[in-house]
This record gives sequence, structure tokens and C-alpha cells, in this order.
Amino acid sequence: MLKHTIRSFKRRISSISTSSTPREKVDCVVIGAGVVGIAVARELALKGREVFVVDSASTFGAGTSSRNSQVIHAGIYYLPNSLKALFCVRGRNLLYSYCSEHGIPHKQTGKLIVATSPAEIPNLYQLMNRAAQNGVDDLRMLEGFEAMKMEPQLQCLKALFSPVSGIIDVHSLLLSLMGEAESHGATFSYNSTVNSGHLEGNHLQLHIVGSNHLQSWDGQSPLHPELILIPKLVVNSAGLSAVPLARRFNGLNSGMIPPAHYARGCYFTLTNTRVPPFQHLIYPIPEDGGLGVHVTLDLDGQVKFGPDVEWIHGVDDISSFLDKYDYSVSASHAERFYPEIRKYYPSMKDGSLEPGYAGIRPKISGPGRSHIDFLIQVNTFLFL
Ligand SMILES: Cc1cc2nc3c(=O)[nH]c(=O)nc-3n(C[C@H](O)[C@H](O)[C@H](O)COP(=O)(O)OP(=O)(O)OC[C@H]3O[C@@H](n4cnc5c(N)ncnc54)[C@H](O)[C@@H]3O)c2cc1C
Repeated sequence: MLKHTIRSFKRRISSISTSSTPREKVDCVVIGAGVVGIAVARELALKGREVFVVDSASTFGAGTSSRNSQVIHAGIYYLPNSLKALFCVRGRNLLYSYCSEHGIPHKQTGKLIVATSPAEIPNLYQLMNRAAQNGVDDLRMLEGFEAMKMEPQLQCLKALFSPVSGIIDVHSLLLSLMGEAESHGATFSYNSTVNSGHLEGNHLQLHIVGSNHLQSWDGQSPLHPELILIPKLVVNSAGLSAVPLARRFNGLNSGMIPPAHYARGCYFTLTNTRVPPFQHLIYPIPEDGGLGVHVTLDLDGQVKFGPDVEWIHGVDDISSFLDKYDYSVSASHAERFYPEIRKYYPSMKDGSLEPGYAGIRPKISGPGRSHIDFLIQVNTFLFL
């Protein structure tokens, strides 16, 4: 039965629409093959559930999961007792164990959060207290000279040292989670967009369209689904599209759907430097919407600075499903980075920043409201 469903699912998703749309009853559908969707699919598959993962892109992890800093966070910044704090601390421990057990490249580099002016020093103590409430109690407050001894290129008055922070090769993590999901029967279908859905009885029926059809859609003619999936369980882990997609689920109580905000962040890479200037992750005091333009290290030794925060408008729904966001990084943007970075790395030479890449943070709160917690809605077909 399972094999038949998989075969017919794959055949139908790639077929052109007929007069009556084919319908398929399935157990679980996970929308989006980013790190969240893949991890959920793995967990469901390990528990013996029949899982289909659909993604509008041509491969896994093509969204925000491949446009980030690849940092394993300690759990310092979040409001005590928030889901963010609980998940970050527990998730970090689980992630380090998973990496060790599955041979995922990673490194516990440690991280320094630095105060570069006297006015910033109280913020460091606040962060230290908050971290302790979150169960991150191995932080150490360092005098400037101690931090600068650890990092000779650094300039700061004081620094909070987090030994448990680190970096990870996200692509390897995704591959490993996917491999486990697939070996327990999960099926991944790419170029398959969930375009909308409707509630019928107790079921959310998902309307699937091939992404190639959406690419060539004229924006006017009716868009018929090529397949309707009728799952017992739906997980909406569509990242930047999770909210726009939820709005297209006919019959879902619209009052439950949170607002969508988008905060773009650019990275610049450090060039003209044979030896990386830093061995630890270096972070300034956090800013609204992000953690400040920080130093991130790749496992291959490359040094990046970023991401900054630029609140942007969303795109139309179809463009969002096809990930047609503006990810370009303008070289002129570097002018804003130099003064930020030189606050803690004063010897950085002119002309040493090159445009890297950009990522976009999907948020359910806008500017000035950075402390809003994760929202996970269960039994209402929404997972954010
Ligand atoms: C600049 C930046 C830096 C970050 N740094 C870090 C960090 O250092 N450490 C950390 O832990 N986190 C970091 N994050 C956060 C982290 O990257 C995200 O939390 C994580 O990648 C989210 O994964 P996801 O699976 O929810 O979304 P995504 O990876 O975006 O996956 C969503 C998937 O859904 C698919 N999709 C969209 N619409 C549809 C549709 N209609 N039908 C079917 N499929 C669809 C997309 O193609 C995509 O593959 C950062 C984020 C940003 C933006």
C-alpha cells in the first residue's frame, strides 16, 4: 500500500492536470524541506508514520536553512521560560550529541560578546543574568585585557565568554537527517508547491501544483491543483512562506494566523587575509531584530561578518513559494559594515570586505518587538 501510494504520488505530481483532480489519502504531509521540515519528517518516520515531504524548490535546504550563520547558539539572549530559551538550551545539547554520533562536522569554538563602550557594559551583565536564568550558567565575564589576550586583534572594554557556542556544517546536518528519514520510509518530492488548501470535515486538503507550472503561470488564468493530498497530519514548515500559505487555507480561522514580517540580513566575507584574525565567534551587543554584525567562522576557516538587519516588505504569495526574494548584496552596503566592525576590530583594512550572501528572517513581530516568542499552533494545521 505504501509503495503504491509513493509511486502514484510521484507519478501524479509530475503529470499534467486532467479534468478531475486526483486525490490521495495519506498519513502525514510535511510542507517544506528546510531544517525544520526535515527534522520533523525524520522524527515522524522514526515513530513509524508514513511521511511525505513536499518542497517547491528543486532540492532540500534551499531556503533560509542555507542562508544563515551556521552557529550553534548557547541560549543566552531569550526571555526566561520562553520557548526560544527552552528549545535553544535543550536543542544545543541534543545537536552536539547528534553531531558527535553521526559524524557531522562541527566545532565548539566558543564566543565572545563584547562591550566596546562604557554604556554597553551593563548590557553584558543583563545578558549574563538572563543566560543564568535560561540554564546557561557556564558564562564568564572577562576584563578587556583578558579577552584581548585570547583574541589579539580584538578591542573591547569587557567581554562575556560563552564556551558552549559553536559552528556546524548545516548541509551535512540536513543530509544526515534526510538520510535517516528516507531510510525509515519518508518520501521527498521536490518542485512540488502547496499552492493552497481547504478544510473539509476534519481534514485540511492540500492543493499541489508543480513548481514549473507556477513558474510559467501568467498570473491571470485559474490555477488548478494537479493533485489534492488528504493527510491525517499536516506540518506547515514552509519557512518564509508559512504565513502566506496558511492564509490560503480556505476555512482556517484567519484570526489565528499571525502577521508576517521579514528582516533581511547581508553578509560580507573578509578577503586579503591569509590567517583568520579571530579564533572565536565575536558578537557585539544585540540590536533590534538581530544579534548585531558579528564575526562568524566557517569550518573551512573563512571569516564572515553579518548579518545586519533590514526590515523589508514581503513578496506576493506565488513569488514567496518560488523563493523569489531579493538576496542580492550590494558592494556599496559595505560602507555601513566598516564602522560597525571597527568598533571591535579597529585594524581591519579598507577594501577587505567582499559581498557574501543574504538571508531573510521570517518573523511574526515587526521592528521594536524582538522579544516575541515562537508560536507553535497544534491541531490548527499551523506550525511556525
Ligand atoms: C541571516 C540569518 C542568520 C541565521 N543564523 C542562524 C544561526 O547562526 N544559527 C541558527 O540556529 N539559526 C540561524 N538562523 C535561523 C535559521 O536559519 C532558521 O531558523 C532555519 O533555517 C529555518 O528553517 P525552516 O525549515 O523553518 O525554513 P527554510 O529553510 O526556509 O525551509 C522552508 C522550505 O519550505 C519550502 N517552501 C516554501 N513555500 C512552499 C510551498 N508553498 N510549498 C512547498 N514548499 C514550500 C522552501 O522551498 C524551503 O525549502 C538564521 C537565519 C537568518 C535569516
